[in-house]
Amino acid sequence: MTDIRRLDDATVDRIAAGEVVERPASVVKELVENSVDAGADRIDVTVAAGGTDRIEVRDDGSGMSPDDLELAVTEHATSKIRDIDDLEAGVASLGFRGEALHAIGAVSKLTVRSREPGATKGAELRVEGGDIVRQEPVGCPEGTTVVVEDLFYNVPARRKYLKSEATEFSHVNSVVSGYALANADIAVSLTHDDRETFATEGRGDRRSAIMAVYGRDVAANMVPVDGTDEPGPLADVGGLVSHPETNRATREYVNVFVNGRWVTATAVRDAVVEAYDRQLAGDRYPFAVIDLDVDPATVDVNVHPRKLEVRFADEEGMARQVRDAVASALLDAGLLRTSAPRGRSKAAQTEISPGESDDRDASGDTTGTNVADPDTTVAESGASEPASGDSKPSEPASSKTTDDATPAWHAEPTDDDTAPPTEARESADRRFREPATQTTVDGSDPAPTFDRLPSMRVLGQLHDTYVVAETDDGLVLVDQHAADERVNFERLRERFSGEVVTQTLAEPVDLSLTAKEAALAEPASDVLAQLGFTTTLTDERTLRVSTVPALLADVSGPELVRSLIDDFADGDPERTVERAVDDLLGDLACYPSIKGNTSLTDGTVTDLLAALDDCENPYACPHGRPVVIEVGRDEIENRFERDYPGHS
Ligand code: ADP
Ligand code: MG
Repeated sequence: MTDIRRLDDATVDRIAAGEVVERPASVVKELVENSVDAGADRIDVTVAAGGTDRIEVRDDGSGMSPDDLELAVTEHATSKIRDIDDLEAGVASLGFRGEALHAIGAVSKLTVRSREPGATKGAELRVEGGDIVRQEPVGCPEGTTVVVEDLFYNVPARRKYLKSEATEFSHVNSVVSGYALANADIAVSLTHDDRETFATEGRGDRRSAIMAVYGRDVAANMVPVDGTDEPGPLADVGGLVSHPETNRATREYVNVFVNGRWVTATAVRDAVVEAYDRQLAGDRYPFAVIDLDVDPATVDVNVHPRKLEVRFADEEGMARQVRDAVASALLDAGLLRTSAPRGRSKAAQTEISPGESDDRDASGDTTGTNVADPDTTVAESGASEPASGDSKPSEPASSKTTDDATPAWHAEPTDDDTAPPTEARESADRRFREPATQTTVDGSDPAPTFDRLPSMRVLGQLHDTYVVAETDDGLVLVDQHAADERVNFERLRERFSGEVVTQTLAEPVDLSLTAKEAALAEPASDVLAQLGFTTTLTDERTLRVSTVPALLADVSGPELVRSLIDDFADGDPERTVERAVDDLLGDLACYPSIKGNTSLTDGTVTDLLAALDDCENPYACPHGRPVVIEVGRDEIENRFERDYPGHS
């Protein structure tokens, strides 16, 4: 017999609370939104232990009367809409569900103190696990202070799912950064465990907010987006985007604001990244602050209370408009080449474009060594001024790439380091081609047999870039460069698996960090030390790197530390070290200068293929691009329509 019972209110509340409150960052989001809605000029967020112990959000906004205060913590109590008509008409405020304070109160110890401007006294209200336990008049500043202690103390299952303090704080940091950038006219500060993470001025200047949150270097390398003339469903596209070489391995610095609301909009982010065309390697993302002016009727912000994801009525049109606006901002600043759209090789329709791998690898080289040198920054920001009509759009990007690829601390730059990556690669390919044509094309070599790769007979070379070979099952193309990268990557990984020998830099390098990176630098320092990087924070936002792994001393830079710190944000430290090493070696594997003893210098196609065959995974380069493309006999026959009935 089924026994159906109605759940008691406290249980219902706690279940419902889970819909709104997932982690400290979701509490911070709700509280900061309330402060913005209350018209605050300043919002100070203070958290302890990543927000798991304590979260305080203080504002100087409109405050609440004692009666309203009590209502505010009640379910579905809001001052922001009255009924469904208001909702349909479009919501101007960030909140409107009237459930956040109630939900937070159900799963924590919540104290709200508030005084309306001009009122003689304020009121304080304390909620524990959903019950109001205290309510009294107090003296307090005008505005509202909300304190949330012991989040999930009464929901152990939820508490258990919280990540490390560093990770939780990282999420808090993203949220507060987002609102700080969205509201440059509000002075927003964030403090973690008594240390100030960042503070914006609140004078309405976007660039100054970016400087506070992302640091001096990033702020100096942003160009304005002005999409007023771009046709499309959006009323306007504005904001700022970074130079292609000011990038990170995470997409989280691409911020999107819809009518002033900080949102997650994957389609907009993708459109921004696409606008950079091939100037960014596949795994690199720019900094961006993108404002979309949208008719509220054409965007749905009501998708989920906890998530920030929005939906657009005309997503395709929106994406096109954003992409065009960002691309023209970059073009105007001389930061984008006017090139054909990025090609893709698909299995069904293999499109071979020789330039592609080189171009993308060139930007891959760049990103690994994005040197944060103040001098470079000055030079670059000069270059960011709109290019005069006669300058070739392709020049600035590629020459910049080259400069950046040479680490400033590099002791003795070699030719390979200073030559534009594409040239370096071409010469490498030339070295490679000559013996290759001798030993293989005359067919004197027997088809080598492989363990992992199919046995193949090399027929020759295509565009100096691909090895063309025949197998029992059809035709094979091997991307030489990708193959070489894979071989190098696995060799490096082997050498790295032993004890790490460090090398002290003659001159320590100072990296300028975003607020988020700075907050992660300390917890990440142990992992970095295991990798051979010795780091110290010399001030709030500067990280000094004094040693690097000896293996990498000649080829890579302290800048890699930054990517490692970014990686540190998500989870399990053990896995982070492994993944960090892989990412690091993946980037290094394409440096020409460490290609000693590989096929490119001494050898033949056969050597390269044999070395590739020895690899654990010969089919993908360390960045995940394919190394080998097979065109099967079936596909060839198919395309020649050999099964055509009249043909036998
Ligand atoms: P919502 O924001 O969806 O209305 P909340 O539960 O977040 O719901 O807040 C309930 C109500 O409490 C708000 O509508 C507002 O009237 C009041 N309130 C909450 N926070 C503040 C604040 N910082 N300043 C002034 N009023 C606030
Ligand atoms: Mg709210």
